[in-house]
Amino acid sequence: MATVGVLGIGRMGSAMARALAEAGHDLVLWNRSSDAATSLAAELGVRTATNPRELAATAGITISMLADGPAVDAVYGGPDGLIAGARSGTVLIDASTVPPSTLRAHDTAARAAGAGLLDAPVSGSVALAEAGKLTLMIGGDAADLERARPVLDALAATIFHLGPLGSGAAMKLAVNTVIFGLNEAVAEALVLAEAAGVPRELAYDVLAASAVGAPFVGYKRGAFLDPEGTPVAFALDLAAKDLGLIADLAAACGVRLPQAEIDLDVIQAASLGGRGGRDFSTVADELRGSRQQEEGSRG
Ligand code: NAP
Repeated sequence: MATVGVLGIGRMGSAMARALAEAGHDLVLWNRSSDAATSLAAELGVRTATNPRELAATAGITISMLADGPAVDAVYGGPDGLIAGARSGTVLIDASTVPPSTLRAHDTAARAAGAGLLDAPVSGSVALAEAGKLTLMIGGDAADLERARPVLDALAATIFHLGPLGSGAAMKLAVNTVIFGLNEAVAEALVLAEAAGVPRELAYDVLAASAVGAPFVGYKRGAFLDPEGTPVAFALDLAAKDLGLIADLAAACGVRLPQAEIDLDVIQAASLGGRGGRDFSTVADELRGSRQQEEGSRG
């Protein structure tokens, strides 16, 4: 099996590295702040690289999982970037949630190095990543996908090939349009049920068992019921970034998305005052807070 390079050892990248290690892949890790890569490498008994170029020179397949488009540009481009170290036959895969244009901008340079490039954004959060049960949305050449498939199979329950480079990124933004709508809808339903006298946990059980009980409702249970005791899975700042990308893509395609516009307003309001590191399910707490304020001003 080819050595797999993982870049971006954040919440998702570290969970994906664990799934790859569990499936028996030889790994080399890199992270901008080196501590995260060093400590995970020690835990998994694998190597680290000092920069993306060095990582690409030792890995047949690389997977990056980075915060946003500028992070992808920083990691793929430049003299110490991934493409500078890529060899003929290497497949460079980016799983970050970024605009469709991000990877396309690196395609010519990757091809000139003889490397393949795929966008492979994911649906599913940290727990599904660690279990190797993500849904992958792939854009790029079918031949590159086939070369990468043995590695991607360790990460995914389902792999969709959407079309050329950038089409995975576009589909991911469409999926997240529903995720942010669901997040807001679950928060509103829960706060409404609580305010009307139904205990929070019981209300959540009903939502999960009802017609709206999507997988999202199942895996966000801890976050909605015990926000303080549940680790952050998806930060408000990243949710705001995604909703901004959704707005940009909608504008470029000439479509209006009124629900996504409201979701962006709500998420931005929730992340004010340094709260952007909280899980995005915290919009329920914001609704509870505004209800208490309203009761206070009435009483
Ligand atoms: P995270 O924990 O904040 O990790 C972000 C990673 O990006 C870190 O490794 C960070 O490195 C790196 N990074 C940020 N800016 C960089 C730069 N300029 N150059 C190089 N590296 C940089 O975020 P996450 O939750 O794992 O999310 C990662 C991606 O997956 C995002 O695009 C997100 O939208 C997407 N996603 C997340 C989830 C989820 O549930 N969390 C689900 C699906 C998709 P440092 O450690 O040095 O800061």
